[in-house]
This record gives sequence, C-alpha cells and structure tokens, in this order.
Amino acid sequence: MAVTFLGVRGSTPCHGDEIARYGGNTSCVSLDIPGHDPILFDLGTGLRYFRLAFPEGDPFRGTCLLTHLHWDHIQGLPFFMPVLNEGADVSIYAPWQLGDLSVEDVFADTIKPPLFPIHFSMFPGAVRFQEVGDHDFSIGDIRLMSRLVPHVGNTVGYRVTWNGQSITYLSDHQMPADGSFSATQGVLDICRDTDLLIHDSQYTSEEFKQRSDWGHCTPDFAVWLAGEAGVKRLALFHHDPAHDDDMLDDLTGRAIECGRALGVDVFAARERQTVIV
Ligand SMILES: [Zn+2]
Ligand SMILES: [Zn+2]
Repeated sequence: MAVTFLGVRGSTPCHGDEIARYGGNTSCVSLDIPGHDPILFDLGTGLRYFRLAFPEGDPFRGTCLLTHLHWDHIQGLPFFMPVLNEGADVSIYAPWQLGDLSVEDVFADTIKPPLFPIHFSMFPGAVRFQEVGDHDFSIGDIRLMSRLVPHVGNTVGYRVTWNGQSITYLSDHQMPADGSFSATQGVLDICRDTDLLIHDSQYTSEEFKQRSDWGHCTPDFAVWLAGEAGVKRLALFHHDPAHDDDMLDDLTGRAIECGRALGVDVFAARERQTVIV
C-alpha cells in the first residue's frame, strides 16, 4: 500500500518560505492499494494535489474516509475537478451527526450560494454518503474499522487492513485536558499493532495548557499512544499553522528520541511524501 501525504496541516491552510518543507495544505492523505480504486483520508485543501496529472475531464471513482466535518477536513471537495466531472462516483464515509442532521444535509447546507457558486446537488458526478460510528465494514477484500474518538463534535478514526498490513488514521484527537495520558478502548482497538499510525500532534505542551479543550494533543501524547498500542511507525500529523519548519524539526527530533525508547519509528509527515506499507 502506498500512502501519500497531500496536506499535513491542521486548522487552516498557510503559505510561506518558513513552512515550505512540511507544506501548508490541510488534511488529506491518499491510499493506493494495488488493484483497487483509491481511498482518501479527509478532503482538506491538499486534495487539490491528488493526481494533479488526472487527464482533463477524467472522473474520480473511489472512497473518501472523513474523520469529521470541520473546515480543514472538507474544504478541498468543491474545488476538486475529478469529483465534478461527469461519471464521477464517490463514496464518502463520515461520522453520524447529532440531532436530525445527516452528513449529506451538512454538505448541502455548506456548498451552495452565497458560500459557493453552485449548489452541491448540481455536481454532475454521484456522491454517496455512508454514516459511521463504531463500525467494521469492508470494501472488496479491504477491511475497515471506524471508531468514535474524542475531539470537538462527532469524530472518528479509521483503520484500513489489506493483505496483512494496516494503516490507522487519527487526524484530530483530544488528549485528556489535564495533560495526562490515556485513550478510549476504541482508539486503542484501531491502533493496536498497526504498521503505520497517522496521528494528531498539533500542540506543544505549553500550547496545550492554553488550549486544553480545543480537541488536539501533543507529540508526546502521540508517541505515548503509539508505544502503548504497539504501533510500528508513527507519522506526526495535523501540524499547527504557527509551527514553522525549524520548530517542527525540533519537535520531531524530540519525538524520535522518545519513540526509540518505546520501539516506535517516528517521523513528521510532509506534503508530497509517499510511504510504502
Ligand atoms: Zn483538523
Ligand atoms: Zn477538527
């Protein structure tokens, strides 16, 4: 399986020489599995860079696994031409919403004038929604798990298993607000012995003290979770827009040291980086 990081930033896209090495687009990761249609984790602004070489007019056919509906995870969708082309066929999995609102309602209420030039229902391709919480499901011979995770609003993480290898995507994850380290059973279940964990690492310990209920965690927490769950490789992800390349190098250096002591291979996700699992 080939995992390509298209957007690694949290909260809002950013730009500048000081963040050029890690990149400024928001959450989007593609997963290519031989013989299968592509899978996308989240649809942030990094989506624009998914197969930029898509032949003009070619439709997208594949699956999107959305963790939740915050802007930084959906904003790429209305600007992704292959989804707008005739013949596109997209299955979007996303967490069920509170109240009577469906996920489709949220998109229909967001992608419409005056917020966007056309209404979501005018997209020529087919977009299907599947609402998930704590579920096990499959796409052909690909096995998937979704589990509700602590964040702000309904949010899930996903585990994808194929041919004996697994990848876990947990982009936004609230650690305990008192700064202690613990995780829900669902989180531990999707992380257990996974080959690659892509995980939130937005705040330094000092920043977390100021933003302890904003839905995120520290690199230290991500490394702790990876060690606790027997994860082989950990990709630090959802970088804060205020963290420049040098700062991310420093944070990653410390996380690599901590990971080594726990037997976890740690790196920080960069835009356009591909990892083979
Ligand atoms: Zn986010
Ligand atoms: Zn979020």
